[in-house]
Amino acid sequence: MTTIWIDGKYYDRNTAVVSVFDHGLLYGDGVFEGIRAYSGRLFRLDAHLDRLYGSAKGICLDIPMTKPELHALVTEAYAKSQMRDAYIRLVVTRGVGDLGLDPRKCPKPSIICIVDTIRLWPADRYEQGLVCLTAATPISHKESLSPRIKSLNYLAHILAKIEGIAASVDEVIMLDSAGYVAEASGMNLMAVSNHTLRTPPPYSGILRGVTRDAVLEIGRDAGYAVEQLPLNRYDLYTADEVFLTGTAAEVVGVSRLDGRAIGCGRAGPVTKDLAARFRALANRHD
Ligand code: PMP
Repeated sequence: MTTIWIDGKYYDRNTAVVSVFDHGLLYGDGVFEGIRAYSGRLFRLDAHLDRLYGSAKGICLDIPMTKPELHALVTEAYAKSQMRDAYIRLVVTRGVGDLGLDPRKCPKPSIICIVDTIRLWPADRYEQGLVCLTAATPISHKESLSPRIKSLNYLAHILAKIEGIAASVDEVIMLDSAGYVAEASGMNLMAVSNHTLRTPPPYSGILRGVTRDAVLEIGRDAGYAVEQLPLNRYDLYTADEVFLTGTAAEVVGVSRLDGRAIGCGRAGPVTKDLAARFRALANRHD
């Protein structure tokens, strides 16, 4: 059952509301995480919390709970939902202030935890792969709003997504402001060539995905070589396979990019192998 916690109280879908003076709403001033639970277990909650506190620090936001307290809260809200497989959205906003953007006017940040489900595409896309387009909209400049901060400002990614919708494709690939391949609208990206996984380095100005890191670990354990280096569209067009990783998307192949078939033109064998290994890891109890 959808379960929502806001600043100390539980609500349901109809009663959970935020103030119109919350700077998360007025200015996108806040940070968030998307976390999955599989078979009764939260997947890599600590890694998500580390990233959340890093994002908050990046925008000078003091989360009014310690990491162990927030860990306990997410665990409690998930247990209360009685869902075994779930998607959890944890949001920390600057809180309620006035209509000016000065964050000093917001005395207390707000914490929101939503336990629900998510599905990005029909199941057949995981077999067929996604049809993708390189968006004209780049991710934000790394010295403007760092893409390493998972902030409530997703407009660049949403504008890219709108380009994809207008072109009737499943997903978009975004470049950074220097023209290197960065990520998809809410996913990291990997290219497979000759049993090597290639992906942009985490410090180049992309969001360092929890799924990305898990897949790199799984890939290394399975004997794939891993290279973290700047990639161009050429590297994607000529790869054996390209796939995307994200908490909501999990591991999903790219079949076509910019009208060109990638590899065999469906989710390839390495993508499927890593997707199966990821699923096994996520559902493992140890
Ligand atoms: N990039 C962006 C822009 C994202 O929003 C996400 C989703 N959080 C990712 C990458 C993938 O990160 P993760 O695997 O931690 O979900």
